[in-house]
Amino acid sequence: MNPAPLQDEELLNFLLEAQLIGEADLRAIKRHTEKTGLRADQAIADLAILSDEQIGLIVADLSKIPFTKVGNLKIPRKILDLIPGKIAKENLILPMKADGNFLQVATNNIHQAELLQFLEKKTKKKIKLFYAATMDLKNALRAYEIPLAQKLEETKKAIEVKGGKQGAEAIANLLDDIIYYASQERASDIHIEPQEDEIIVRVRMDGDLHDILFLPKEFEDVLITRVKVLANLKTDEHRAAQDGRIKMDFPDIKLSLRVSVIPIHDGEKVVLRLLAGQTSLNLESLGYTQQQLNILREVMQKTHGMILVTGPTGSGKTTTLYSVLRIMNTRDVNISTVEDPVEIRLPGVNQVQVNNEANLTFANGLRSMLRQDPDILLVGEIRDTETANIAVNAALTGHIVFATLHTNDAASTLPRLLEMGVQHFLVASTVNVALAQRLARRVCPFCIQSKELSLRKLIDLFSTFENFDAKHFMEKISNGGRKRKTSEIITIYEGKGCNSCNQTGFYGRVAVAEFLEVDKEIRKLISKKTLAGDIIAQARKKGMMTMMEDGLLKSLQGLTTPEEVIRITRE
Ligand SMILES: [Zn+2]
Repeated sequence: MNPAPLQDEELLNFLLEAQLIGEADLRAIKRHTEKTGLRADQAIADLAILSDEQIGLIVADLSKIPFTKVGNLKIPRKILDLIPGKIAKENLILPMKADGNFLQVATNNIHQAELLQFLEKKTKKKIKLFYAATMDLKNALRAYEIPLAQKLEETKKAIEVKGGKQGAEAIANLLDDIIYYASQERASDIHIEPQEDEIIVRVRMDGDLHDILFLPKEFEDVLITRVKVLANLKTDEHRAAQDGRIKMDFPDIKLSLRVSVIPIHDGEKVVLRLLAGQTSLNLESLGYTQQQLNILREVMQKTHGMILVTGPTGSGKTTTLYSVLRIMNTRDVNISTVEDPVEIRLPGVNQVQVNNEANLTFANGLRSMLRQDPDILLVGEIRDTETANIAVNAALTGHIVFATLHTNDAASTLPRLLEMGVQHFLVASTVNVALAQRLARRVCPFCIQSKELSLRKLIDLFSTFENFDAKHFMEKISNGGRKRKTSEIITIYEGKGCNSCNQTGFYGRVAVAEFLEVDKEIRKLISKKTLAGDIIAQARKKGMMTMMEDGLLKSLQGLTTPEEVIRITRE
């Protein structure tokens, strides 16, 4: 009935031949499968070497199983109940439809013959297999979950009926449920905000905060204490701010959270940040263009020099830097970082946390690291002359230095270093690439729809921005040398709203970036202390795309929307 399971070897050979992966990827996949015991397709998705859906389509095709999308299915309860929720979730197997003697089932793992046999016996139906991508399946499997609001009602009842210790336990469980819910919603932060007469729980999803729950004020003590206990904080301290970390294991996911508790007027406010530990550190999945990836690959080949990254908090700088470090992290190099805070942990890398009380500043940390024979350094942030000078000197003396700075765009990083007192010839001879980025919300792939408009209209939308150069943009989107006309009709995209994206039309995020390569001409401009505007003009001549242009091109590819591009580049 069911096809023979696809072997790792066969899949990897296919991907290599189709040039969908390279030799370096192959080594990474093998290392990952050996370490984790995952199958190759899971490892590929885990490392985000290919997108979940890409790898799903390929595996389905090679296994000769029909591919399906399940995120938007409305599956009746009586069908769901054919497979118990626990089994369904643990094995990522979803009943979709019962059809006479057949039960249609979607899974991403066809290597479970015994389970399928068991299900056939239990349901007394023949199982018809479909293949669905992992994330899509996980979304659909949420149909089994009890909504948070219902859990809150159950908690209230438990307190009423049982009170005391068991009531407190119910509140603690509710906290676990909130954290699990947030991770399932791909939220980045959870805010627990005591008000005068209630507690508001909000989560940040794709950049925006949403209220998810209103809790009775009586929950406050137990809830905050539970957070403090989990994070190893002082439970009797109510007047000072405290920071810590929480690790939580759920049946299907391990979570790591950064915790901050601060006293406010109506109690103590808690912010839990879900750390990026489990998002894949993969440059392709961030949505860089081929040209941008090539620049980064070139940077990784260099033996010295500086790579500057700029962007506001939450622009994905850390993810980008760690994706690069992950690739460079081989046994024969010494990588050291000094950061505040250390957000992502990478095995084999020496990560130093800034601690101002102990006088472990960026500058001091950097100085100590340099005494330990490093090859690659990451400076979490350059914000003073001292740190800037040490970093530049390190880059000059045979180290690769990655650093972030606070500026609006890539070109401004160069004058910024000069302002901080670094000699212009040093900036000119050390900086290889300056990169600025933002994260735009990605159009939901499960409910994407197209929309037509004239190119003129799109350009009008952007021409009020002084840094938008319509002529340059028209050149960028020329079609194989043929110039486009502004009267031409083009297609943009938006998400209609569905279950997978919580009716927002967005799902995840995509990097919108500009990469300024420092070449001979630009070095000359820096030596002459030229302003950022002239540096951009020169870089544009050489083909640099600004963030706005990059975002616009991504909206033509259906990755994001023009409105998103405006929103993020204005920040
Ligand atoms: Zn959607």
